Amino acid sequence: MGTPLSAVVTCRVAHGRHPFMRKLTSLLPVLVALPGLAQYEFDHAIIDELAWREGHHWHGTLRSDAPPTRGYDLKYMRAEWTVDPAVRAIEGTVTLWFTATSELDVVVLDLSDTLVVDDVRWHGQAISWDLALGDVLTVDVPGVLSAGVLDSISVTYHGVPRTSGFGSFGTGTQPNGSPALWTLSEPYGAKDWWPAKQDLNDKLDSVDLIVTTPQPYRVASNGLLIAETTENGSTTFHWRHRYPIAYYLISLAVADYIVLNTEIIAGTDTIPMVTYSYYDNPTMAELNAGDVAVQLPLFTQLFGRYPFAEEKYGHAQFGWGGGMEHQTMTSMGGWNYGLAAHELAHQWFGDKVTCGSWEDIWLNEGFATYLQGLTAEYLVPQYWREFLESNKAIITSDPAGSVRCTDTTSIARIFSSRLSYRKGAAVLHMLRWVCGDSAFYNGVRNYLNDPGLAYGSARTSDLVDHLEATSGLDLSGFMADWFVGEGYPTYTLQWTQEQGGGTQVMLFQSPSHPSVDFFEMPVPVRFWNDVQDTTVVLDHTVSGQSFTFILPFLADSAEVDPDLWILSGQNIATSVPDLDADRISLVLWPNPAGDQVTLRVPGLHGPAEVQVVDAAGRAVLTTPTNGGMDHTIDVRSLVAGHYTVILRSGTMYFRGALLRL
Ligand SMILES: [Zn+2]
Repeated sequence: MGTPLSAVVTCRVAHGRHPFMRKLTSLLPVLVALPGLAQYEFDHAIIDELAWREGHHWHGTLRSDAPPTRGYDLKYMRAEWTVDPAVRAIEGTVTLWFTATSELDVVVLDLSDTLVVDDVRWHGQAISWDLALGDVLTVDVPGVLSAGVLDSISVTYHGVPRTSGFGSFGTGTQPNGSPALWTLSEPYGAKDWWPAKQDLNDKLDSVDLIVTTPQPYRVASNGLLIAETTENGSTTFHWRHRYPIAYYLISLAVADYIVLNTEIIAGTDTIPMVTYSYYDNPTMAELNAGDVAVQLPLFTQLFGRYPFAEEKYGHAQFGWGGGMEHQTMTSMGGWNYGLAAHELAHQWFGDKVTCGSWEDIWLNEGFATYLQGLTAEYLVPQYWREFLESNKAIITSDPAGSVRCTDTTSIARIFSSRLSYRKGAAVLHMLRWVCGDSAFYNGVRNYLNDPGLAYGSARTSDLVDHLEATSGLDLSGFMADWFVGEGYPTYTLQWTQEQGGGTQVMLFQSPSHPSVDFFEMPVPVRFWNDVQDTTVVLDHTVSGQSFTFILPFLADSAEVDPDLWILSGQNIATSVPDLDADRISLVLWPNPAGDQVTLRVPGLHGPAEVQVVDAAGRAVLTTPTNGGMDHTIDVRSLVAGHYTVILRSGTMYFRGALLRL
């Protein structure tokens, strides 16, 4: 199967005069056959649902942008927990290994003040500690720990994790009434159930999670299940994970599960895939694992090896409406193709490379949403355009808003589906357009494999550095407009063509928000007639810019951005008899017109007056406009014939010819 992008011939018009041909080569052959999809329903609501779910389980204080803090660097955790899904509580001992990064006499951890600390030990000896309001556990280590020396403390505790809505530590029942328990700590809820260091820039390098629960419940968790022992009616599950992991990606899901095993072949890897399903629909659970078996090889082709290939991937059903990308064991609220793709994508974007600040949450959510779309582009292409159109419609429903998260104290803003998820994905799609497929994919792969970022955390500038290196472009202007700035452009194109094929166009742009004066972009324009078409790429640097080039045929139609590369509003392309400076700037459509005609003066905002003048020079209709970009006027009172439409705004004056049918 080929890619829908292959072999589109385009010419890029640099600035007005000399077009040169550019061939967009196909990215790479997608070798994956169209799968027998279990349940392809391209559920766009799932993105909003995900965002809502990911944003409504949190309570507490957000921090962001912290360098590795508190004088120590976490290395390893051994957690021994006892839970019973029928009882909303936890007890256990967590041993944290760390090296001091400077001389250290207290170890500060995050732990909910609703829990009860029983004992804290250092080298087997009980030591003093204080659990203060505000969820700060301060442990006094005897003497002073030297920088660079590996050490550890053990915290034994019990209690009922804080309750809030669906909470970071949830309990419920599966549809057959059997109790279930799960955790969901993003962004800041790990401390609700274990003593954590909630720092995006200090991952644990590896963990052993040893969880005891009554029979017949089973525990699903991160890494590999290396031991399972039953004694006195309880089973202890020993999960071992040997990859670095951020605090919010550690999870437990405990229920009377059906366990389904399969294998996924991706490149040279054979990756175990395990599904922990409730009893309600194990067949759908199994089919959804089949979806992953196709999505994972695609992501491997595009972005490199599955990051946790030495261990496994898994799905664990939980009592939550969306999904959560727990490392190597995604929690799934239901079985859905798009949800599976989104959470799988997070294993590369979010888990392997974690946003280093909540300001950069788009590095997690924008990528996961975009990869969800890429499964459509490459595997089920009939859904790709729908994905792009849906994103565009929702993002442009509001003229404002940046991809950069401007308020990291607001959960709603961090997990904004319109901005962090969808506009983040749109910006990645535009970076691909601007850089080209080869530079984009190579740059993103280099970002994922950068030794300073892989299995660690990254900021937006890290991604940009890699894309600049592979593309040779300076992306600072692009990022200022699209990451920091708000809104999007709307394009108006006017074009005319001579019999010899000589073509002249003028391209206007209206930004939707004052934070961006102008979006400099290569703008694709397609021209066609009944038998052929070609796409010209215009390097747009100023509104009202004119371009001249020769098309090898006479076109009867044109469209701005026909393949939806650019996040933009309702674009218009109109053919005009000739482009003279006096007439070009007032666009009328439809024209000829029936009952209504809409006017646009690109770049003009604010009140204006419209006057329609008949062939005899008499003003037959005068009406004020609403100040928006487009003005629709009712022309039912006009008899059929030719008119001149004049629009005045202050000293500005525009006109155009109208044919009333
Ligand atoms: Zn997500």
